[in-house]
Amino acid sequence: YLKELECLKDLEAVTLDGHQVELVGNIGEPGDVQGVLKNGGTGIGLYRTEFLYMNSDAMPGEDKQMAAYRSVLEAFPDGPVIIRTMDIGGDKNLPYLPLDDEMNPFLGLRAIRLCFKESELFKTQLRAILRAGVYGNAYIMFPMISNVDEVRQGKKILAECMAELDALQVPYRKDVKVGVMIEIPSAAITADIIAKEVDFFSIGTNDLCQYTIAVDRMNQDVSYLYDPFNPAILRLVKQVIQASDDHPGLFTGMCGEMAGDPMAVVILLGLGLQEFSMSALSIPQVKKIIRSVRYQDAKKIADQALKLETGVAVRVHMLESMKRLK
Ligand code: PEP
Ligand code: MG
Repeated sequence: YLKELECLKDLEAVTLDGHQVELVGNIGEPGDVQGVLKNGGTGIGLYRTEFLYMNSDAMPGEDKQMAAYRSVLEAFPDGPVIIRTMDIGGDKNLPYLPLDDEMNPFLGLRAIRLCFKESELFKTQLRAILRAGVYGNAYIMFPMISNVDEVRQGKKILAECMAELDALQVPYRKDVKVGVMIEIPSAAITADIIAKEVDFFSIGTNDLCQYTIAVDRMNQDVSYLYDPFNPAILRLVKQVIQASDDHPGLFTGMCGEMAGDPMAVVILLGLGLQEFSMSALSIPQVKKIIRSVRYQDAKKIADQALKLETGVAVRVHMLESMKRLK
């Protein structure tokens, strides 16, 4: 079986009837790219840059960050590398950046919100990504976006960084693509508005489940409620993809755990998801499933799934559908 998965490495992620999608990897540090390459990922759909900060005793400077981003970009000369700006806050803290205690850290000063408050820190990272961008296909992604104003604010700060690099005559990627994570329900619901401001969406189902179902993603006592197959999540995913389909040139991917779940692949494919980003080890199995279905069938299976009333019913439907496809 492992041999079979290995043979898939250089094959495309294409359905029996010729519909192609992109399979890319989630990484936490540059050393993780080898695993993605080995398993046939064609790029990076989520580079969680916060580990660069967390594994450091002091704030990593622009040059140090730029070197890390560059090494990832150079590993994928053809594919996209989506670099997410730091997602600190929530449960992730930095020893050298003391934050106030919060009643609800996951609803507090996290990710882009912290970056707007600590704007020098944010700008250092943006300049590092822009500079590294000349070595590959860099995409910038903002996490924890809750409304369109935050997207505009992020882009404004990015433009300031570009002007600073221009003034210093430092080379950088001028046409860098800018996208956002859709991981807060308000962003999913207003995806049609946000679509006008971005080049891509990446759905973060880990937080989208947490915030939509009001269930702490780490709390075992309520984990029975945590379910990406919950009809509420499926409806939001559908709505986001619809908003992106209505905007030519915009694409939608997913970098939450759901994207690498074998049970979810056919639904996501059928809903029209264009890019699946997951941990390296999930890539071969997901590719195998994609290569074994017809897109036309996946669409029907997804349509039926959207009519079901519970997450359990959706899972049963998926198991039965996949058995029939074999
Ligand atoms: C997500 O929320 O789905 C996601 C991919 O981001 P993280 O798991 O890093 O919060
Ligand atoms: Mg998240």
